[in-house]
Amino acid sequence: MTLTLEQIVESGLCIGCGLCQAIAGPDHVQVVMTPEGRERPIVRAPLAPATLERINAVCPGTVVEGPDRGSRGADAQVDTVWGSAERLAIGYAGDPDVRHRASSGGLLTALGQFLLSSGRVNFVLQVAASASAPMRTERRLSFDAASVLDNAGSRYGPAAPLLDFTSILEREEPFALIAKPCDLSAVRNLAKLDPRVDRLMRYGLTFVCGGASELTKSEEVLESFGVAERELSLFRYRGHGYPGPTRVETHDGRAFELTYQAMWEVESTWKIQARCKICPDALGESADLVASDTWPGGGPQGEGEGFNGIIVRTSRGLELYEAALAAGAIKIASDEVTFRDFDAFQPHQVRKKRAVWARLAGIAAAGHPVPATRELRLRECARFNTVAENLAEARGARRRAENGRLGEVPAVER
Ligand SMILES: Cc1cc2nc3c(=O)[nH]c(=O)nc-3n(C[C@H](O)[C@H](O)[C@H](O)COP(=O)(O)OP(=O)(O)OC[C@H]3O[C@@H](n4cnc5c(N)ncnc54)[C@H](O)[C@@H]3O)c2cc1C
Ligand code: SF4
Ligand code: SF4
Repeated sequence: MTLTLEQIVESGLCIGCGLCQAIAGPDHVQVVMTPEGRERPIVRAPLAPATLERINAVCPGTVVEGPDRGSRGADAQVDTVWGSAERLAIGYAGDPDVRHRASSGGLLTALGQFLLSSGRVNFVLQVAASASAPMRTERRLSFDAASVLDNAGSRYGPAAPLLDFTSILEREEPFALIAKPCDLSAVRNLAKLDPRVDRLMRYGLTFVCGGASELTKSEEVLESFGVAERELSLFRYRGHGYPGPTRVETHDGRAFELTYQAMWEVESTWKIQARCKICPDALGESADLVASDTWPGGGPQGEGEGFNGIIVRTSRGLELYEAALAAGAIKIASDEVTFRDFDAFQPHQVRKKRAVWARLAGIAAAGHPVPATRELRLRECARFNTVAENLAEARGARRRAENGRLGEVPAVER
């Protein structure tokens, strides 16, 4: 069944990647910031049925698929929860400045820089803080190493890297995408319809993703400091340390910090978007390489030097990883790493991956749409739970879907 954009949004399936705007054009679909602090599409002019069908085929709210099996080598290991890996390791950026300034160990930034310096791509599509409104996140094209470093760091609020993806393809230049797993899902869906994606998007890099907050989370932080958004010159969620503090600076020279632990200690204040609660692939299965944090138990005990968990997913990712290692762009602390180490670093991800199948079944039982999934082993992951656990997840999701707690109000612009 083809869903309207309104149905996708109001069913809580939209994460605000922006690809529908790129497909339909901004005259027809425009992603706006809503009063609730979400980036959501609004239909500005009627959509042709073929356009809506194309949006349904690419939207990561309606379709999420695992990787094409041909993208990995014969020796790749496959884990029920984590998917496939050519290589598992712990590492960090070779350049200490990158390692310090980036979100974790700077691996994604170092690889983005190496992709450019080695001539593998002409630019990197990524996101970064807006220069004029630094609490907001914008899509960026980075053509040199300095720009990739400027765009390092985690942006926990809304981020729409794919708003003009069609015009990026029209450049006819090789590029890499560094973005969330759901953004990768969207472009992999598009690749099935548009051969330019596989021809031009040479690499897709991502991070293990616990969910994106609504902007209201960041607005509450500002409010707690007594700062208005127009006064901001910097809003950094983390980095400049591992994890580094959330830091706010104003044009008149004031500065405020919150530790990572204080920022995220109370889960009920995270304001995570609805789509994230049923995310079928927060582990970046369709990326070439995935970076993560490495804190046992899932959270930091204090500050330290940055490290990344590394999951090399594809043969193409392996070639990049080995070349970047040989060039000194990245360094490896350990390659004696197993999927069970990743379980220890990401217990919240293991719980979610095991819960998603039952949650989707519960939502579907309530008569609400869910994303079509394939090659993500969701049913197999659910088999790690007891029947009672799966029933509780499914019933809980059904109840929340029926009383509207998994849906969203119609999108309007702030
Ligand atoms: C919303 C969110 C949730 C996360 N949840 C987890 C988690 O559950 N477990 C875990 O281990 N790690 C999580 N991280 C990832 C972690 O914070 C690091 O980003 C990751 O380890 C990569 O580190 P790095 O030093 O290589 O990144 P960097 O070198 O700093 O590069 C980060 C890259 O990610 C891009 N980026 C940042 N935010 C976004 C965004 N919102 N949308 C698209 N692209 C973005 C940047 O443009 C940059 O290219 C999350 C990050 C985000 C943004
Ligand atoms: S998830 Fe992306 S493609 Fe789907 S409706 Fe939202 S912005 Fe559009
Ligand atoms: S949890 Fe899933 S839907 Fe949410 S931001 Fe991360 S990858 Fe996207």
